[in-house]
Amino acid sequence: MKRVVENVTCTFCGCLCDDIIVEVEDNRISRVRKACANGRGVFLDYDPTPGKPVIDGREAEWEDAIAEAAKVLARADSPLIYGLSSSACEAQRKAIALADLIGAIVDTTSSVCHGPTGLAMQAVGEPTSSLGEIRNRADLLIFWGCNPAAAHLRHFERYSLNAEGTLVPNGRRDRTMIVFDVRPTATSKAADEFFQVLPDGDFEVLAVLRALVQGKRIGLDSVGGIPLERLRDLTGRMKKCRYGVFFMGMGLTMSRARDLNVRELFSLTAQLNEFTRFTVMPMRGHGNVAGADQVLTWLSGYPFAVSFARGYPQYGPGEFSAVDVLVREEADAALILASDPAAHFPRAAAMQLKRIPTIVIDPMLNLTAETAHVYFPTCCYGVDAEGVSYRMDNVPIRLRGALPTVRPTDESILDSIIEAVKRC
Ligand code: SF4
Repeated sequence: MKRVVENVTCTFCGCLCDDIIVEVEDNRISRVRKACANGRGVFLDYDPTPGKPVIDGREAEWEDAIAEAAKVLARADSPLIYGLSSSACEAQRKAIALADLIGAIVDTTSSVCHGPTGLAMQAVGEPTSSLGEIRNRADLLIFWGCNPAAAHLRHFERYSLNAEGTLVPNGRRDRTMIVFDVRPTATSKAADEFFQVLPDGDFEVLAVLRALVQGKRIGLDSVGGIPLERLRDLTGRMKKCRYGVFFMGMGLTMSRARDLNVRELFSLTAQLNEFTRFTVMPMRGHGNVAGADQVLTWLSGYPFAVSFARGYPQYGPGEFSAVDVLVREEADAALILASDPAAHFPRAAAMQLKRIPTIVIDPMLNLTAETAHVYFPTCCYGVDAEGVSYRMDNVPIRLRGALPTVRPTDESILDSIIEAVKRC
């Protein structure tokens, strides 16, 4: 019997497209409609067959794996909890409760992507909006250091360039698109105008744009590889547009000046509101990385890199960021929730993860799970479990499961570990 489930949400990236249609046959997803190439794999590559947990490469009973994970975490002097961004908010809450209980450092994938965005937001504020407002109003789109044509494939169609909105009914024809990047990309090919910035030149360009918006004189012919006249012309168009938006990515957060780049962009956006409506939107990558920031902030006051070692939350980007903690060999055990740091961290940090007892909770047997001391195969939120995820604009989306839940959820595993730690 074939079953069709509509309005399913894809959790691959921060767009959280919630119009996906899946066809289910024999309790497997056999066909996916509307999802992009990146999102289809979330549904088609997932095997919902229940699996057993693994301890040191051998299958184990659930109770034994829970007891072993609890023992490792309870005995550790400096445990690290990392990831969270591809799980649901319900599980994120439990991970933070566990960190509080065992005095762990908790960090999310934000610290290796949009952490600097969080620092800039704390310093100067973030003049932002919802994607719905942008879809319906924005006539000037400026993409800076991001490549949605490769990383957020339906962004143009659903929220920006090609979307037909209330005040931009003709979609692409009603919008102007500009791209700033250090090299041409698939996104810059779709733009009306491309500004190629010299590597690490973003801060200078942003500072000059701010000065030009304020009407200040600049004694330069070019900045960051861009002729001043082009920037002056752009400033005039930014002031005159009806509704402008900056979409910013890791080209700003992970190049030199990091959070200072983002501060300049946020400040520029705020200044432009003296002339017209202008907003900024960080292009978040993982499906629920925005939720991880939200939940950790509700519970500790800070969005990432938080230590509970002293019995209260302490914020320390750089000090309590997972990569730094591992490279300095400060963590003596780790719990990785819905993330694959062994595949993405710098070598020194990934090697340290292999040396310490690591517990992995993840639907997939990823690289980190393959060498974990304890691995729990859980269900996949949005495919065979319900939950809540935050879209890149911080709008919470309720995920519906297209398949029945037969594997344990991340939340239930974390709950069991918490109870077992209390008994240790
Ligand atoms: Fe999934 Fe992102 Fe593609 Fe939408 S754009 S279908 S959320 S991968």
